[in-house]
Amino acid sequence: MKFGGTSVGSAQRMKNMVALVAAEGNVLVVLSAMSGTTNSLISISQSIHDAEPGNARKQIDDLEIKYKDTAAELLSDTELRDKALTYIDEVFSSLRGYVDRPFSIKEEKEVVAFGEKLSTNLVSLYMRQIGLDAILLDATEFMRIDRNGEPDQNFIKEKTMETLAAHPGHQIYLTQGFICRNMDGEIDNLQRGGSDYTASLLGAATDAEEIQIWTDIDGMHNNDPRFVEGTTPVSELHFEEAAELAYFGAKILHPTCVLPAKHANIPVRLLNTMEPEAPGTTIYNAEPTHTIKAVAAKDNITAIKIKSSHMLLAYGFLRKVFEIFEKYHTPIDMITTSEVGVSVTIDNERCLDSIVRELSELGDVTVDHDMVIVCVVGDLQWENKGFEATVVNALKDVPVRMISYGGSNYNISLLIRKEDKIKALKLLSENIF
Ligand code: ASP
Ligand code: MG
Repeated sequence: MKFGGTSVGSAQRMKNMVALVAAEGNVLVVLSAMSGTTNSLISISQSIHDAEPGNARKQIDDLEIKYKDTAAELLSDTELRDKALTYIDEVFSSLRGYVDRPFSIKEEKEVVAFGEKLSTNLVSLYMRQIGLDAILLDATEFMRIDRNGEPDQNFIKEKTMETLAAHPGHQIYLTQGFICRNMDGEIDNLQRGGSDYTASLLGAATDAEEIQIWTDIDGMHNNDPRFVEGTTPVSELHFEEAAELAYFGAKILHPTCVLPAKHANIPVRLLNTMEPEAPGTTIYNAEPTHTIKAVAAKDNITAIKIKSSHMLLAYGFLRKVFEIFEKYHTPIDMITTSEVGVSVTIDNERCLDSIVRELSELGDVTVDHDMVIVCVVGDLQWENKGFEATVVNALKDVPVRMISYGGSNYNISLLIRKEDKIKALKLLSENIF
């Protein structure tokens, strides 16, 4: 069971999530930091990095108050409360130790790791207070990334099983999401939102019956509820469909998180702490349903078109194009080609100038900023008739810059302008669902 930031966002929320854990029993629990904490720790790091010690100290003080208040509200047992306060003192005095010291990415990773350590510490003490048989495990002992920053799954499996075997017979095993060590033994993490990934990796490592991701929404919806009224949760998704949706915008799940679960064939359930009885969304190796499941949108996309007379009948042109993106570590999301050119999209403009400069040697380059990928996900095998027509027809009044279909059996992606996004999402919902 993994609980996200809002599910541990206050003393009351912690009590609620612990009740859910207690009802389940025999479970490995992964926690995020309290909501807002990772952002605060990053902002503190930024202030230290920018040599603004006063600013950093002020933020550290504010955060400390929040934790002391939470501990006071959560723990009525004085001995346990004192334990929590001592731990909070330790954490915040080590945080203050980073101010006025050389501060690099290594120190920043140590600083952001405190969020998950604090939340798991508080929750484990509360579990003890209400008499649950829970043990807190240090994720940095069994979560590790390799030189490429990818989880080292063999190591994780071996170490996790070893750690569990060293503490047999408990009802609840509690650990931190997100944090890990790297190959140099330093504290590191699985990137923002990485607690889902931890849960999926640990579910796979322990051959769990299922992986439950608890958030504050009742599963993945068939469209973005922030922009479209009347969306409904999708009860079942294939792993591939869920991965497309997570990648293309549905904020509820970390994009790569489902992969380990998929390989281990363990169902992932998205559940709502505010409405625990709701069925949520189950992601598994579902049979094809011959339906469209959901629509999502991904913002801040840049489209780049390279037009070249040399592409006609040429080989090696696309390789040269792709090599430039590879050189600048910039992943491509969408591609469309014609006989005279290729359009690609990226979601990171960090190296855009250099990329455009090098691409210009291959042909005429045009760039469109502020674009959005709208992604329609479902059973879209090419033998199924009519789905592409429905999607394109729904958007007949929206200018479409690119259309991509056939890359997988599970999606159609369309690139549109940012200002047309909400209209497009609404039109798709009206026409498809
Ligand atoms: N606390 C981390 C973050 O905010 C990891 C997570 O919540 O999944 O990104
Ligand atoms: Mg999250």
